[in-house]
Order: sequence, then structure tokens, then C-alpha cells
Amino acid sequence: MAKYVPDIKTERWVIIAPGRKSRPDQSAPKPTVKVCPFCEGNESQTPPEIYRIGPGEKDKPGWQVRVVPNLYPITDIHEVIIHSTDDSRDIEDLPSDQVTRILTAYRDRYRAHEDDGQVLIFSNHGFAAGASLKHPHAQLVVIPKQINLDAVEREPVANVVKENNYFVTYCPDFSQWPFEVWIAPKQEGGGKFGSVPDSELADLADVLRDALKRIRSAQEKGYLHSVHEQGVFVYNYYIYHWTNWFIRITPRFVHRAGFELGTGLNVNVVDPTEAARVLREMV
Ligand SMILES: [Zn+2]
Repeated sequence: MAKYVPDIKTERWVIIAPGRKSRPDQSAPKPTVKVCPFCEGNESQTPPEIYRIGPGEKDKPGWQVRVVPNLYPITDIHEVIIHSTDDSRDIEDLPSDQVTRILTAYRDRYRAHEDDGQVLIFSNHGFAAGASLKHPHAQLVVIPKQINLDAVEREPVANVVKENNYFVTYCPDFSQWPFEVWIAPKQEGGGKFGSVPDSELADLADVLRDALKRIRSAQEKGYLHSVHEQGVFVYNYYIYHWTNWFIRITPRFVHRAGFELGTGLNVNVVDPTEAARVLREMV
């Protein structure tokens, strides 16, 4: 069971979740997992499946996207959305049809839990971004409604990188991380992520895949030197949990350190206008 502890003055909360400590760790010098539980054929290594896209029987091969409960939950409802059967390729390298399936799974699971609390979907890509298993996946957590989340709301569109029929990709003026990229519905004042219709998911897949490819190209072309091992592409993204939703991608080119911890102020070493200019040039 997760325990929620408040800081009365700031209305911030901390979750105490000791169960997380025993998570497997593939990044350790001696990985604590030998067989990847998310690979096709290893379905028996995860808790029973909750959802799948693709043919085949529950907990048997054949799936294209698979959702299972997280064995080491942060909150009482915590699911893992396995992006594909591919152990190494993630959104930026998967075919667009597969990215559409992944987003369909996100949207469907969001809908399934919408009434249970605040639904947050996020993905950690790379061990340095907090992933403990390499196989690309996202996570869905449900946080009780009475817990105050300290999350930024949708920022105004500025420094546009790309747009298609329904979505716009941009680098908000209020960017806390270098090369931070947001994706939002063109029409502001929209609903929650669960309200995205099937007809818009392919367009969303297009901009998400495109944004990650552009950020990676900027890294490869040396616009910013990553603090991580050379050539490793490390990022997080999450989908804002409430109305007027957006996706926020934060590449992890820098570490957060004492100054940020002590002041709550973030130092962004790349002007978002410049980030957008560079990203527009990437193909
Ligand atoms: Zn795997």
C-alpha cells in the first residue's frame, strides 16, 4: 500500500512506497533480471494481462501492445503499457501504425480509470531517465483525487516546430528543460486525454514520433552535449492528467542539481526560441 504524506504549508505531498525498492534493475553492472519479462514468449513472467491490442489469447504470444499490472507499484493502481514486442526500438523508431496502437492503448486505459482518480501516463526512456527495464514501455498510475498535484498547466503556443490537422508541436516560452517539446491539440480548452477520438490518434502518433526524432537528431548533430554516455538518447514524457491536456517531452541533456533543489528555480541553458529553430531544421 502506498502512503501519502502531506506538507501542510505548501500543499505538496510525498508518496512513501517501499515496495519499489525491490524493483529489478537491468542497468546494474550485474543485472538483477536475466529474462526480459516484456518480450514475446515471456508472458508468464508478468502478472496476468489486463488489455492487449493484437491477436492471440490472454497471456500468450500474438499481441502488438500489452498492458499488465506493475509488480512494484507506486500507487494502488499502476499499470505497465508494453510498447511492442521489440526489445529495443521505441516510439521514434517504430512504424507509425505501431505508434498509433500504443496511443490507442494509452487512451483506452486512461478511459478505463478516469473515474478512479487522477490518471497520469508517462514514459521513461533510458536508465538515466529512471527506467529499470530496457524494453520500451510506458506506465499509468492513478492518484487519489484529494492529492494535490504540483503540475504545470498547458502553456500558450509559441515557437512552433510542426503542426498537422489536429496537433501542434512547440517549445513553450516557459520551458524548464533544454529542448523541452510540448504537443497539444490545436484547439485550446479541450477535454481530458480520454476524449481523443480514434480519428485523431494517427495524427497524434505522427507528431509524437516526429518530435522525438527531431530531438534525437539535434543531439546527434551536437547542438547540446548530453551528460549521459555518448550517443544515448534519454528522455521522459508524460500526458497531463487533467483538462486541456498536452504531452510534455523532456530530453535529459542535463542533470538537476543543488541550485534547482534549493530554490525551486530551473535554469534552462537553451532559449526555447532557439530550440524551436534548431528542431524545425531537423528532419
Ligand atoms: Zn524485452
